[in-house]
Amino acid sequence: MSESCCSAEAENASCELPSGTANRPAQSEGKCPECGQTGKPVQGQTVKALLSVSLRQVSEGRYRFCRTQNCPVVYFSADGGQIFTVEHVREVVYQKQPDGADTPICYCFQHKVGDLRALSLEGQREVVADINAGIQADQCACDLRNPQGACCLGNVRALLKELERPASARMG
Ligand SMILES: [Zn+2]
Repeated sequence: MSESCCSAEAENASCELPSGTANRPAQSEGKCPECGQTGKPVQGQTVKALLSVSLRQVSEGRYRFCRTQNCPVVYFSADGGQIFTVEHVREVVYQKQPDGADTPICYCFQHKVGDLRALSLEGQREVVADINAGIQADQCACDLRNPQGACCLGNVRALLKELERPASARMG
């Protein structure tokens, strides 16, 4: 259903960097140099689309996305030698500021965290339906819009689930 949008390997990767660079064993590789958590691989086009700095700085090779909330690093090279932080990214990154009312949660169809929080259950369902409809109409561009380089629906569902719980259960 949502495969075309959410699958990591898009067919339109013609502008991708050659992947022949590295097949080194992944030991500490893949861990964020700042927080030590394992980053999720992102496509080169995602990094290029989201950076606000000159792309001359983008090196060949693979980048990963750090989703640790209190870590400023957004992208880092697989070998850990290069990092791009929230300052270098043109969007507010949901994983870094998940509680900000103005933080986008769906970057393709422009839904914000605050909007979702303010909506009734019915309204929230409509947002999910809107996102799903957009995905099915092939109108999304998660790899170019969403800093995580993948579909937002998992984040949306997780947030809505969290909102269902009483506030007291949400702490910690
Ligand atoms: Zn990190």
